[in-house]
Amino acid sequence: MRILIVEDEPGISNFLKQGLEEEAFAVDVADNGKEGLELALSGNYDLLLLDWMLPGISGIELTRQFRKDFPQTPIIFLTAKDTVDETVFGLQSGANDYIKKPFHFEELLVRIRVQLRGKTDSEEKLSLGPISIFPDRHLVLNGEEEIQLTQKEFALLEYLVRNKNKVCRRTRIIESVWDIHFEYNTGVIDVFINSLRKKLNLHIDEDYIQTIRGVGYMAKDL
Ligand code: CA
Repeated sequence: MRILIVEDEPGISNFLKQGLEEEAFAVDVADNGKEGLELALSGNYDLLLLDWMLPGISGIELTRQFRKDFPQTPIIFLTAKDTVDETVFGLQSGANDYIKKPFHFEELLVRIRVQLRGKTDSEEKLSLGPISIFPDRHLVLNGEEEIQLTQKEFALLEYLVRNKNKVCRRTRIIESVWDIHFEYNTGVIDVFINSLRKKLNLHIDEDYIQTIRGVGYMAKDL
């Protein structure tokens, strides 16, 4: 899952980037509306976190332009504005939710997860064969046994399992799991896949994560 933050206060964007990366999101940051819009229109993001008042293009205008091409991608506003009129205006412009500054990171995280999982209240559980993944708690189980994964291993596994039974191309995996500053070398995926396979302790004939030679990987229930 990859998130774009557009925020001109570095204190806030650095804090958010660090917090979200600890939750296994890949995070890019733009500090002005124009760069934010350009990045957003690349289509590489699962969710946008937008400040309202930005240099150049405002969060509202960015949302209007982005929505022409991406009607579905969730947008959450970070805003110091909190009168009812302004909130309504923000939501009417195409945002899905908003959070008032100052906010608690935990609350923002819950709002992000709600947007990403389609607004259900129950905890999300993903599964692959004997493997269960609980994204909200960062928990991975093989049967009953808890598996300790790094943030990137977790993000990679989550991406593959969300796209189960589909071939995941290397470039798409990179775009979802690593941020824009990642030096473009898709070979690193193989290293992480090997490590994942070891940690998940799957038997050699249980090919739940299949290599699609020359293309990428596919998670598959057997
Ligand atoms: Ca601002």
